[in-house]
Amino acid sequence: MTTIWEQAQGLREEMVARRRNLHQHPETGWTEFRTASMIIKELESLGYEVSFGAAVVNEEYMMGVPSQADLAAYMERAISEGADPELVGKMAGGKTGIVAVLKTGKAGKTVAFRFDMDCNDVEEDKGDAHRPTAEGFASCHKNAMHACGHDGHVTIGLATAKLIAAHKDELAGTIKLIFQPAEEGVRGAYAMVNAGVVDDVDYLFGGHIGFKATTDNALITMTDGFLATTKLDAEFKGVSAHAGAAPEQGKNALLAACQAAISLNTISRHSQGSSRINVGVLNAGTGRNVVPDIASLKLETRGATTEINNFMVSEARRMLAACAAMYDVELKVTMAGGAPACLPDAELGHEVAELAKAKCHYDEVSEYVDMGGSEDCGYFMERVQQRGGRALYMMYGTKIAAGHHNSHFDFNEDCLWKAAATLAEVAIHFTNK
Ligand SMILES: [Zn+2]
Ligand SMILES: [Zn+2]
Repeated sequence: MTTIWEQAQGLREEMVARRRNLHQHPETGWTEFRTASMIIKELESLGYEVSFGAAVVNEEYMMGVPSQADLAAYMERAISEGADPELVGKMAGGKTGIVAVLKTGKAGKTVAFRFDMDCNDVEEDKGDAHRPTAEGFASCHKNAMHACGHDGHVTIGLATAKLIAAHKDELAGTIKLIFQPAEEGVRGAYAMVNAGVVDDVDYLFGGHIGFKATTDNALITMTDGFLATTKLDAEFKGVSAHAGAAPEQGKNALLAACQAAISLNTISRHSQGSSRINVGVLNAGTGRNVVPDIASLKLETRGATTEINNFMVSEARRMLAACAAMYDVELKVTMAGGAPACLPDAELGHEVAELAKAKCHYDEVSEYVDMGGSEDCGYFMERVQQRGGRALYMMYGTKIAAGHHNSHFDFNEDCLWKAAATLAEVAIHFTNK
């Protein structure tokens, strides 16, 4: 009998073709209509109960959603590129999240796997040294590129689904496959968590190709060091006036924003751990001789723990309000994204490492890496842990052609079938606990 590792290897060609198809048609956060349509059809054909749209995405908690006009254009594009119009219609408003369930009918644990689907707002390199360009599968969408590897994650998810369905008789309990929109900018997980999609989950597994796992044929079973983060948009609204004839009648939004940008960088450090603040964008004013009545900032905070990040956010909000008051302008602050810190589960990481060593054929299995970044999978992990379940984030080793989010990004597609084999083994092992 062939092992799951061997069966996954047999899926290699189909996985590479799928990854390249997705790579060619990248979709930015909340607009993954074509990608989601493909996923839904595949999962239904494998016998999963598939929910998507408003059933699994709570509109109230969607962050950083494109405008209605942009969404409409993206829906139309998806259909013109082969998406099912009926499915796309049911994902209106950007609700592209999907949850697929496979019930075995046997007593056992509920094990969930989470995959992200969105691309980056990056223009892909068109030089021949870049393999996707040289081999004809570079992005056909302007300013959109799978430069983080989420095309690989979708591919892993669907192959895992196939392997799990083929081994249904060895499973117990329930399998849940979660396909999440808008990971970039940490916007999508929150809306799915608040639709309750992981409330019944005993074990949740998330993961990423590459990142800190940049050697081939390697697996890292536990990622620590997720920074909690919050993305804020601040809009200042003042009163415009003639800069020469009546400056005293104006209320200067530009000065409020500038003052805020500087003040935000003076928030105190925190004794309990590291913190970050960055004002990345400042736009203001309308003309040289007009007291500026509009200004906006895009900023983010981070913290080693959710508490430290919350401190940064409340200080940032206080300073924004104080700067608005100083110049007597109005202020509106909206949350554009966020992710919590995560409690690592070393014991679970060890258990998966032992399983991988027994069932898979990696050259190297390590149990720990520090992420030093943010991932909104943290919302899923936090909710599962709060409800007594356990959660883990893994990294699937691959050499990468350039850093994540770089226009030259590419990876070794062999990491895909290996990850799928690993997750299928995890499914069998943990549903039977
Ligand atoms: Zn990314
Ligand atoms: Zn990513």
